[in-house]
Amino acid sequence: MNIHESEKIAGVLEKLGYSPCDSEQKADVLVYNTCCIRETAEFKIHGHIGEAKILKQQNPNLIVVVCGCMSQQSGVAQNLKRRFPFVDVILGTSNLDLLEQAIVNAQNEKSTVNVEEKNNVLVNLPKVRTSRPNAWVNIIYGCNNFCTYCIVPYVRGREHSRPQQDVLNEVKELVSLGYKEITLLGQNVNSYGNDLKDGTNFSTLLNQVAKIEGDFRIRYLTNHPKDLTDDVIEAIANNAKICNSIHLPVQSGSSAILKAMNRKYDRDDYLKLVSKLRKAIPDIGISTDIMVGFPGETDQDFLDTLDLVQKARFSSAFCFIYSRRKGTVADKMEQIPRSVKGERIKRLLEVQNVITKEISKEMEGTLQRVLVEGKNKKYVNTYCGRTENGRLVNIKSDVDLFDQFVWVKIKNYQSATLWGEIVKED
Ligand code: SF4
Repeated sequence: MNIHESEKIAGVLEKLGYSPCDSEQKADVLVYNTCCIRETAEFKIHGHIGEAKILKQQNPNLIVVVCGCMSQQSGVAQNLKRRFPFVDVILGTSNLDLLEQAIVNAQNEKSTVNVEEKNNVLVNLPKVRTSRPNAWVNIIYGCNNFCTYCIVPYVRGREHSRPQQDVLNEVKELVSLGYKEITLLGQNVNSYGNDLKDGTNFSTLLNQVAKIEGDFRIRYLTNHPKDLTDDVIEAIANNAKICNSIHLPVQSGSSAILKAMNRKYDRDDYLKLVSKLRKAIPDIGISTDIMVGFPGETDQDFLDTLDLVQKARFSSAFCFIYSRRKGTVADKMEQIPRSVKGERIKRLLEVQNVITKEISKEMEGTLQRVLVEGKNKKYVNTYCGRTENGRLVNIKSDVDLFDQFVWVKIKNYQSATLWGEIVKED
């Protein structure tokens, strides 16, 4: 979501005549697109904004902009302005439409602070796309779920979906421009359409996007297990263009912790969903997010998480230590010691690494259609891409494969990374 917002910020700057440069020292405008999901990201960004003070002293015409979800938190914009008075523009997550005018104001030495929450849909902003062959397409903004650890609903507001036709038009345009992978974006894509009241929902959208002509793949991020319905699973199973991979954050394998997190499913619900997905789409790759050290997590709760990981057999898992966020319900709960969290994350990673390796081994010898995303900077004449089920594959090649589909035979693997040999170009 943040990467795509950066693409919109770049689009606005390009419209104003700016172009990218390779160092802060040369820049006329510095934009910090912040994130407040985790505490460490917030600490880091404070350090970076502080450094901009020296740059501003060296170049008084430098325009410094802070946007993203950190500035949207209650009281933060005012604190930022007090602590860093040299910042020219502070905008909240729903105010990127004001960026163009705010930069013009800054050119005229007038600062702008606007973090007013609005339910506008920021799709009509120009974009500089940076992730070819993939293109990000927003389908729903905000979140209604209020998981007790999460700051997102407070900084991105309630859910509001883009009209289906708008999404379809954008995808059609991107496919006509040669984009080969479209990733539909939302904090909870499964809620798509709930607020539209015109009968559209996520499965109707998936089916319509899959009908668009052209050779491209469809991915979507991210899902909420409580909202992933049978019609969506059917749409994934029935449409060849929709990738056989899904990111399905579980967060914990303990029903008690899931309840405390306000996730509204328990471990059995989740495991049943995994079985249902595997039955409908046998070769599906399921990835997840897992948090350790949520307040009150006992040794048994953590063992339940390890047990769920063994049973669900995720192809990959983003494992995190719980991060306190001011203003959330979990922040007021009794926290558990840092050392316990550190030990748990190590054990979790060990268990998941073994599973990831086992799945890599299972893929040895298989034929995979890979979309090549770029060069592997570590190895010469090596490209990397992804299989449909989301695994990274390195491919040796003397010819440029970027932005192409190729058929690859998986020869060997290093933990999560596969190595393949081209069998034929698509
Ligand atoms: S579903 Fe939960 S974790 Fe995801 S954005 Fe909403 S509140 Fe945060």
